[in-house]
Amino acid sequence: ALPVVAVVGRPNVGKSTLVNRIIGRREAVVEDVPGVTRDRVTYEASWGGRDFTLVDTGGWDPDATGMAARIAEQARVAVELADVILFVVDATVGVTDADEAVARVLQRCGKPVILAANKVDDQRTELEAHALWSLGLGEPRPVSALHGRSSGDLLDAVLEAL
Ligand code: GDP
Ligand code: MG
Repeated sequence: ALPVVAVVGRPNVGKSTLVNRIIGRREAVVEDVPGVTRDRVTYEASWGGRDFTLVDTGGWDPDATGMAARIAEQARVAVELADVILFVVDATVGVTDADEAVARVLQRCGKPVILAANKVDDQRTELEAHALWSLGLGEPRPVSALHGRSSGDLLDAVLEAL
């Protein structure tokens, strides 16, 4: 079986956009209204000559009570099935309660976690990615899923962890 990379994070941070960027097609559902992604949609992907399975997680109603707890639960499921976890945070918003709930799960998971600081569309926004060090998951890697900025560097880091 191919190694599995699971993309986790709260709604609207750009998980599905990043998945589309990685697979090079528009298959993952991107919505301005968050929460439309179905649970755990899997795709075949490859980078640097290596094939892997990419799992897009999501499907929560962001207005539901207890959202942070449900996202943390989804992160636990992703950790079970994945070899590497790609944790996506919106660097332009900064750390939210839901991000922290996911981070707590991932800190203890014993599997490699790559922290993507998404929506870093330009040089100026790169400074905001530094705030994500507070999640306790190591170096935040700035990326723009929408424009592709630094997505190759992010994928290199994912493959190094595989
Ligand atoms: P998901 O809920 O985490 O899967 O997030 P989506 O991929 O559906 O994206 C949510 C919104 O964020 C959409 O409007 C995207 O176009 C936007 N978005 C995603 N990545 C980026 C990015 O790198 N930069 C900017 N500016 N917007 C982004
Ligand atoms: Mg999505």
